[in-house]
Amino acid sequence: MKTLLVAEYRDGKLLGSNSELMAFAEKAGGESAMFLVGTESDLPAFGGKLYLADAGECGEYNPSVHRDLLVQVVEKEQPDVVVFSHSSYGWDLAPRLAYAMGAAQVSEVIDLVDSLPVVPVCNAKLRRNVKISTEKAVYTLQAGAFSPAEVPSGSPEVEKIGTDADGKVIFEGYEAAETGGVDLSKSDIIVSAGRGIGKPENVEMIADLAKALKGEYGASRPVVDAEWVEHNRQVGTTGQTVSPKLYVACGISGAIQHLAGMKKSDFVVAINTDKDAPIGEVADVLVVADLKQFIPALTEKVKSQ
Ligand SMILES: Cc1cc2nc3c(=O)[nH]c(=O)nc-3n(C[C@H](O)[C@H](O)[C@H](O)COP(=O)(O)OP(=O)(O)OC[C@H]3O[C@@H](n4cnc5c(N)ncnc54)[C@H](O)[C@@H]3O)c2cc1C
Repeated sequence: MKTLLVAEYRDGKLLGSNSELMAFAEKAGGESAMFLVGTESDLPAFGGKLYLADAGECGEYNPSVHRDLLVQVVEKEQPDVVVFSHSSYGWDLAPRLAYAMGAAQVSEVIDLVDSLPVVPVCNAKLRRNVKISTEKAVYTLQAGAFSPAEVPSGSPEVEKIGTDADGKVIFEGYEAAETGGVDLSKSDIIVSAGRGIGKPENVEMIADLAKALKGEYGASRPVVDAEWVEHNRQVGTTGQTVSPKLYVACGISGAIQHLAGMKKSDFVVAINTDKDAPIGEVADVLVVADLKQFIPALTEKVKSQ
């Protein structure tokens, strides 16, 4: 399968997620080329052809200009699949490109089986294998789904590209989201609450354990969406990425979007009533128990040490 990988550059820097695109290409097999709107002074470690447009001229993001640049490269390279990260850049640009190419677009790809994309369905409880009926396709990759076996290396063979297309959008810059309060990425110990805590009153139990361990508490997205915990404590693709020494997942199933935010933790303890919950695949210790009984007992034990 021939792939065109759309690398990302944000706020003057290459993004680390570009290595996941390379991991996808490695799994897909076959040739790959890369596309980047960035700068010549900061190129990705990639051993193939890189089509480079200047971010100063084209804007770090300008949908119609970036789409026109990509269409040029697609015509030249004739890839079977164009691959984006499932980021705000990919969400916006992938469908525009797919429409221009008359190609199928598949979002949030988490795996490849027999060269076909797999996506999560039913709130990530099931997986769907997708059959493509167009000649070419455009995918966005779920963060954390493809990990490179080794740190990418190599220097790309650069071909500069440009366009006279006049975009209707002017890129003005980025504004950092207000995080306020806690910065989980600085915490060595995080105890996170999942939907399995059952009710908002039980957040206190999780916060108590975190305090006894001298750490912070976090949460999965459903707990944040239900407004039981504020958003700056959410862990996952749409929350924070953390890598503490100890991560305790309480009543968290282990959906890929949550794992992407915490799987680099040094040691993971999961407490779950379901012995087959996917969190067990990344946990160093899986405690099969009802958290409402187990956590208060654990907190008492920690406090008595
Ligand atoms: C675009 C997108 C972005 C997303 N971003 C994020 C993100 O950033 N972070 C995130 O977390 N999710 C995110 N999600 C949601 C994600 O797909 C899952 O739905 C979510 O992570 C599930 O949360 P959970 O594990 O708390 O709940 P569930 O999947 O409902 O799991 C609850 C778990 O609790 C266990 N349980 C139940 N009762 C008990 C008990 N008494 N004691 C012990 N265990 C118990 C159950 O066995 C189950 O495993 C995103 C989804 C999408 C589509």
